[in-house]
Amino acid sequence: MGNILRQNLELEKRVNARTKALTEANQQLAKLARTDTLTDMLNRRAFAELYQHNLTNPANCTQCALALLDIDLFKNFNDSYGHDCGDAVLREMSRLLRENDVVARWGGEEFIVLLPNTTHRDAADIMTRLCSAVARHSFDWEGETLRITITAGLGQCDCSQSLEKCLKPVDEALYKGKQQGRNQLVLATART
Ligand code: GH3
Ligand code: MG
Ligand code: MG
Repeated sequence: MGNILRQNLELEKRVNARTKALTEANQQLAKLARTDTLTDMLNRRAFAELYQHNLTNPANCTQCALALLDIDLFKNFNDSYGHDCGDAVLREMSRLLRENDVVARWGGEEFIVLLPNTTHRDAADIMTRLCSAVARHSFDWEGETLRITITAGLGQCDCSQSLEKCLKPVDEALYKGKQQGRNQLVLATART
């Protein structure tokens, strides 16, 4: 009887240890699925989830601003300095952006910033400062000092709307900025 009890206890210990290991592995997998591997930032999926689950609640978000940032002529940059240098710039960009509350790599050389409970005027100031900070920043690569610029679109975001809907005018503003010569912040026009 004592033996069976000991065996049961041993088995229970092993099951518990295994369950703990599985839980940890699952948590690790869930984190990986939400993380951009190059920059370690949230990825597009994680940002969309965050928006959906936390911000569509008016109690969490009364007045929000949404910005899309795109590195200017990054293809040329890669062609001139190499893909590894481009990767290093993307990683450094993520560090420059991290001061913002909710920021993610939207894809490629594009980043998305959500400024919860921020007036449009404050958001414009914050984003203007960010664009200039990026333009002034020295990216060091193999002894060279490199610079990049970004173009950004910024819009007010009604969090009761879908992310897709809030993003549309912001994306259009970004596109306008590219057409107008890049290295600038463009405010989205009011939605109809
Ligand atoms: P624009 O000012 O109009 O945005 O020009 P662009 O060259 O930045 O835009 P385009 O869409 O033509 O090219 C985007 C470039 O971004 C091409 C691609 O090689 C580069 N890129 C995207 N993802 C990565 C990445 O993970 N690493 C590196 N090094 N480059 C990337
Ligand atoms: Mg782009
Ligand atoms: Mg670009």
